[in-house]
Amino acid sequence: MPDSFQHFIDGQAAEASDGGRLPLIDPVTEAEYGSAARGTASDVDRAVQAAHRALKHGPWRQLSAPARARLLLRLADLVERDGDLLADMDARAIGRSPMEPRMMDVPNAVANLRAAAGWANALEGRTVPTGGYMGTRTFAYTVREPVGVVGAIVPWNSPLMILTWKLAALLAAGCTVVVKPSEETPQSALHVARLCQEAGLPDGVVNVVTGVGEVVGRALCEHPLVAKISFTGSPEAGREVQRSAAPLFKHVALELGGKSPQIVFDDAPFEDAVRGCAMGLFVNQGQVCAAGSRILVQRGVAERFVQALAQAATAVTPGPVAKRAQMERVNRFIQSGIDEGARLAAGGVSQPERGWFVRPTVFAEARNDMTIAREEIFGPVGTVIPFDTEAEATALANDSRYGLAATVWTSDLTRAHRLAHALEVGAVGINCWSPLDANLPWGGVKTSGLGREGGFGGALAYTEEKVVTLLMPDA
Ligand code: NAD
Repeated sequence: MPDSFQHFIDGQAAEASDGGRLPLIDPVTEAEYGSAARGTASDVDRAVQAAHRALKHGPWRQLSAPARARLLLRLADLVERDGDLLADMDARAIGRSPMEPRMMDVPNAVANLRAAAGWANALEGRTVPTGGYMGTRTFAYTVREPVGVVGAIVPWNSPLMILTWKLAALLAAGCTVVVKPSEETPQSALHVARLCQEAGLPDGVVNVVTGVGEVVGRALCEHPLVAKISFTGSPEAGREVQRSAAPLFKHVALELGGKSPQIVFDDAPFEDAVRGCAMGLFVNQGQVCAAGSRILVQRGVAERFVQALAQAATAVTPGPVAKRAQMERVNRFIQSGIDEGARLAAGGVSQPERGWFVRPTVFAEARNDMTIAREEIFGPVGTVIPFDTEAEATALANDSRYGLAATVWTSDLTRAHRLAHALEVGAVGINCWSPLDANLPWGGVKTSGLGREGGFGGALAYTEEKVVTLLMPDA
């Protein structure tokens, strides 16, 4: 019996208005294992109307911040209870081993929801010293109000974790939401929506509309009752999102891609650096926004490093990427690396008989102007570029249109902090790759995006600060 998924609107499962379905394909076998509702603009309107009703008229509006915090804690417990199931859903949908989401995505999702319970209680206003109004004293304060109905658009690489970044913060702030999961991975978002209902969130607060980005995503961006779009995905789609949200001046938060440098100095803890770089390249088949795909290595240790990294690549069992187009894209980039003259130290172009498998690949003696050093590949492909001095490493690291994350591998902590200040990115790891934490903000600069998710600032970003001024004449 193939899996069959429907939208979740106003607390109920719903088919697409025209009955359309979207096939779900197994990346390992290439067999169709199910389908999801193919949403229409009218489905989006139905879901947004439900979210708007819940925001303006329902019991959600009456809930105090501590009550919202309790619901978030209950939701976190339910996500933890169903953690294996959720991890299996995300893993199967993109052909990934369930061990990775069980170890990383689920604990992060639970932590995001638990941290947000604290943020709900911390969204305080301020009393502000004011200069008076036409000679009369004034008393002024601010309150934090929910920004409104949010459209949350999510990609396929870590669907549960990325969804909870958005959901935890917007629920803490008192918003309601219509989630648009990616075409490949609607399952976990739909399950979380049902868990929201089980936790006691009123119907209409969390809705999910499945379907394609150009229809469902666009309709969300253009809907007049949606106040904010929180988007995670590619820069190309992010640009479209910003364009379609512009006419109505919606808030837009964009978490886009990266070409993140890992900078390895000759005094780095060598084994740790090799292990960290391998993880930053090959986890989830490189389908990670923070993938450390540009590896800058000081010349004295470069050859030894390339050999160790190539060995690590060979030890990784090749897995599939999420879709055929992605496999073809990864292969095109690998071919471009060969054509542009980088030395292939491990892996290469793949031609699997079945399944969208790609080989963990390492290029050595590359230059920063090569395509494999400029473009986000979103596959298990690392590009090693040698450098001589710290100044050269900094210049190479910053010579990118992206600016999401970076790692510095060194035992010289003064140098590490100097680099951390000089790097044009949203997050720097020192002797560790991509240390995510629910209390830390996450996001990039330049083409990597706009705004931050996670941490208290992530919740603040779902609020408007309203000013109230009282004229206070003397008695
Ligand atoms: P994508 O841009 O193709 O799709 C992302 C989501 O946007 C999907 O749900 C899609 O249906 C929707 N979408 C597509 N076109 C749209 C449009 N015109 N209007 C509205 N919505 C639209 O990205 P993807 O292939 O799913 O994910 C890979 C990309 O996401 C990579 O570039 C990766 O770096 C990035 N990413 C970034 C982060 C981060 O935190 N910075 C995290 C994960 C992934």
